[in-house]
Amino acid sequence: MGEVLAVDLGGTNFRMARVSNEGEILKRAALSTRESRSVGEGLEQLVQLVEGADVQTLVFGAPGVVDHAKGQVVYAPNLDQEFLAELSVSALEGVLNKKVILVNDADMAALGESELGAGKGGSTVLYVTCSTGIGAGVIHEGQLLRGHYSTMEVGHTRLGLEAMDEGESLASGTALARMAKEAGLLTENPDLVKLAAANAGIEREVLSRVTEAFGILLSNLSWLLAPDKIVVGGGLGLSDPIVLELTQQVFDRSVPKYLYGLRLAPAQLGDDAGLRGAAFVEHALARRSHLA
Ligand code: BGC
Repeated sequence: MGEVLAVDLGGTNFRMARVSNEGEILKRAALSTRESRSVGEGLEQLVQLVEGADVQTLVFGAPGVVDHAKGQVVYAPNLDQEFLAELSVSALEGVLNKKVILVNDADMAALGESELGAGKGGSTVLYVTCSTGIGAGVIHEGQLLRGHYSTMEVGHTRLGLEAMDEGESLASGTALARMAKEAGLLTENPDLVKLAAANAGIEREVLSRVTEAFGILLSNLSWLLAPDKIVVGGGLGLSDPIVLELTQQVFDRSVPKYLYGLRLAPAQLGDDAGLRGAAFVEHALARRSHLA
């Protein structure tokens, strides 16, 4: 397997890179997702910026549930719904003359972190991204865990009975912004996190509510999966060490330390976990179909 073109489509950024088969980024480009009028148009622009070699495969990481058999995204709550119709292998192959592999964004990043980053050497690696949305991927004994669709939609599991008790509504970057507003704060998330790290005021209280929910989500997953490594990425997850520190405190109250003794590790590849993980997607998916 040679180089691939890797795409990471998020609510804010639409990024692409040419990536070697070992996960090294050779050339990259980004657009603002909101400025891309369609996925196809954005893709064409990005391809022009990063091409320079004869790359035949495009690995497309989408922020939603992927039906691998049909090759399409079936649910993506944080994405402009007009984009959804374009998120299928056949639509994407129609835009570029390349083989397209569609994969969930968090699964792609989980592969990156387990092959090259903070999950390296783990036997059950749980990767969770905490950003606009919350997504996760599990690499167990080198295999990407998949269900009927892409799996580990942790952001849509609930911590209570109400619709607003969805993990994503309580523990994401979007949740933090909403709770800050409700508390009368006008601060943007990155500044709010910095203030929360520096003092124990209202900012700290707001952040603690979010990390409390996030810590509970992670502890629930640990009881279910018994991972030996938990890696946290995403805009909020990596914004400041305080986020993981507060999350760890809640986690330790919910999962006895003597049982798993887990430390939450920040994603070592940062924002590039997904793009670099794209190098391993084809292999991970092929390995699975051999088993079927
Ligand atoms: C989506 C997941 C995605 C996550 C992070 C969630 O809203 O349902 O599929 O991995 O956001 O982008």
